[in-house]
Amino acid sequence: MATGFVFHELYMWHNTWNWAQVFAPSLTIQPGEHAENPETKRRFRNLLEVSGLLDHLVPIKARPASEDELARAHSRGHIARIKDMSADNGGDASTLTPFGRGSFEIAQLAAGGTMAAFDSVITGKVRNAYALVRPPGHHATADVGMGFCLFANVAVAVHHARASHRVGRISTVDWDVHHGNGTQSLFYSDPTTLTISLHQDNLFPANSGGLDERGESAGKGYNLNIPLPPGSGDGAYIAAFERVVLPALSRFKPELIVVPSGFDASGVDPLGRMMVSSDGYRRMTSLLMKAAADLCQGRLVMSHEGGYSAMYVPYCGLAVMEEMTGIRTGIEDPWSAHMAKWGQQALQPHQEQAIAAAARLVADIS
Ligand SMILES: [Zn+2]
Repeated sequence: MATGFVFHELYMWHNTWNWAQVFAPSLTIQPGEHAENPETKRRFRNLLEVSGLLDHLVPIKARPASEDELARAHSRGHIARIKDMSADNGGDASTLTPFGRGSFEIAQLAAGGTMAAFDSVITGKVRNAYALVRPPGHHATADVGMGFCLFANVAVAVHHARASHRVGRISTVDWDVHHGNGTQSLFYSDPTTLTISLHQDNLFPANSGGLDERGESAGKGYNLNIPLPPGSGDGAYIAAFERVVLPALSRFKPELIVVPSGFDASGVDPLGRMMVSSDGYRRMTSLLMKAAADLCQGRLVMSHEGGYSAMYVPYCGLAVMEEMTGIRTGIEDPWSAHMAKWGQQALQPHQEQAIAAAARLVADIS
């Protein structure tokens, strides 16, 4: 059965201005590209085309999320602020989130692209789908955008799945190197959404993503953070999947699994200090596909988040898409042999301790 793919040229036109990577221009650092720029996304999509894999994907047409649909996750005040600034000459969604004129409409299309991917998977048009959207979404909360995110694409799509398709239990598995704080906050008291985030311990946002953030009231136990030590590679991530993520999914029994998909846990990302290779992302995809096949008719959606290495994001993305489609293109990742040999790529004792601490929380999920 087919794999769907969402892309829209306007995603590439979201303007993050001429910043010094993540900091506003000042007279201490020469301005250049913002870290969150179109290049990694465009190269990912272009490698899909050049490899021939794009020919095997089912194009899914993005549509704009309406303001009412955004309002299922966001306050009307936040929506209005972004809309007003976007109609003027852009602004900053709160901190570190600059955007230009027209980004409101593009962000509507990003949330709507993820919704369209959900639609196609839930209705059985495709078995699984990847939404290569921009701007990203997993840091945005109800009231503010942050960390390059304007609206919470995945959260808006989860609400849409419930409102339009009566889907019940949904699990998110966020493998972006940063904590999925926005997704966490939007479902913190909701026992029907299991939010899981694997991330570099206390990277971004500051003081966010600890083991003690478990959810509240009826949602207590249904938020699961897996903060991993910097330097964690394929060994640690696969162990975290096998010992925490997969057992948690088995207990929760979701009707759909969605991955806020960031490739910034890679070994060469400028904004993270992890060591995951394209093969690591491939193996994590394979494990999630098996879980989805066992638990929810294979329903798996990914929505693009971070990933800032222009030379490596395309290989990680291709590996994930090869796994989702079951088609090998024969394209070699030139980094994989090097990265596999890096020191401490295998699971280390201090990483195992961190994973064991998270694994103890799985028993609270039912
Ligand atoms: Zn990230």
